[in-house]
Amino acid sequence: MIGDLYADEELERLDRDALRALQLLRLKKTVEAALLTPFYSKRLKGVGITSAEDIRTLDDVRKIPYTTKDDLREAYPYGLLSVDRSEIVRMHASSGTTGTPTVIYHTQKDLDQWTNMTVRSLRATGCTKEDVFQNMMTYGLFTGGIGLHYGAERLGMLVIPASSGNTTRQFNMMKDFQTTTVHATPSYMLHLYSRMEEMGYSLKDFNLKRALIGAEPHSEEVRQKIEELFDIDAYNSYGLSEMNGPSVAFECTQKKGMHLWEDAYLVETIDRSSLEPVEEGEMGELVLTILIRTGTPILRYRTKDLAAIIPEPCSCGRTSRRITRIKGRTDDMLIINGVNVFPSQIEEVIMKMPGIGTNYLIKVRKEGTLDKLTIHTEVGAELFTDNAQDLHNLRRRIVEELSASITIKAAVELHEPGFLPVQQGKAIRVVDERGSVF
Ligand code: AMP
Ligand code: ZN
Repeated sequence: MIGDLYADEELERLDRDALRALQLLRLKKTVEAALLTPFYSKRLKGVGITSAEDIRTLDDVRKIPYTTKDDLREAYPYGLLSVDRSEIVRMHASSGTTGTPTVIYHTQKDLDQWTNMTVRSLRATGCTKEDVFQNMMTYGLFTGGIGLHYGAERLGMLVIPASSGNTTRQFNMMKDFQTTTVHATPSYMLHLYSRMEEMGYSLKDFNLKRALIGAEPHSEEVRQKIEELFDIDAYNSYGLSEMNGPSVAFECTQKKGMHLWEDAYLVETIDRSSLEPVEEGEMGELVLTILIRTGTPILRYRTKDLAAIIPEPCSCGRTSRRITRIKGRTDDMLIINGVNVFPSQIEEVIMKMPGIGTNYLIKVRKEGTLDKLTIHTEVGAELFTDNAQDLHNLRRRIVEELSASITIKAAVELHEPGFLPVQQGKAIRVVDERGSVF
């Protein structure tokens, strides 16, 4: 196998020319596999691609049409299988909101390759076999839990497959087993902290060094808050089930963007209206092709996630380019009285406020013909009980800073800790009560 020419440590530091050569080889192999699926054989032949030989350079990827989530749904359940079903050893599925799930199938070789990526990602954050790894992501059809599990085992960490929820048990295990590394959504990390004292624990009880946080959008302010609250390092982890799951892109200890593992994924950024490529360094929709899976090949998948490619090399020496944190999804952008706003812009403002709590919710509704934006946010217990004047000042400051940042005058409501609902899994941060705009 072509990729097996290199050991994984070499792949991380391959010079750019060798990396591109490997990408081309793997792209051809992926196209070859795709042509064996009912879905892609039709789609690719429609644009004149009948064999891997029609892909001669990496730029030829642009001859291939984009794949969307709807395409994957259309191919449900087996339309994207490129090997005999007896070769498949696992499936994952992502349901989204509209019913038919998208399903991804893996051969044993596919899983091994994915595990290589997760080992690499964990190592990039400084994890070693000395670490105790408490995996607080949901195990199941969702890829977050199982995804990192096998890599952590292969790296030799002691893995606690805790899964999500049951905060009391999470704390007990963190203390008893002296967990050094947790894997969780950023919203769950904030929730954990908000329950710590009430459950009779303090930071001294734990031996926590780092958190791997991902699966949902979050701002730099939230990362910093998690780091400060727990006195740890927090690393951003990006992935999606269509591209296996976690370990598509991961931060290294430099914490300056996430290395997108380019030997395994071909990344493009496009303008979401014209669908033309944007310049490196410019924000665009991420389009990804997976180069290390034959069970379900997926070419040029429109992720709807917005980020920019960081072209400058990272000082850690890994040669895969990095991407910025995900700014938001093209489908979670709010249009409020004609102004485009990403929830992440609101989060950035509130999460840097001193005294702010760990949970917030953005609500939008119609008031007459106008859109009305209300931010509900919890504040720390002391501030809430003792200090009406401080509370008033804080609310005013948030309103002012929001208005400076997003040019919208929002209403802000401050609440006591625990007031807002806590969700398991990915947090729902926006409630839009305007109904369909169509
Ligand atoms: P799923 O396929 O259900 O795991 O969902 C994948 C989606 O979760 C991605 O397309 C992103 O929208 C989101 N996501 C995953 N990781 C991150 C991250 N680190 N930052 C922001 N969004 C993320
Ligand atoms: Zn790096």
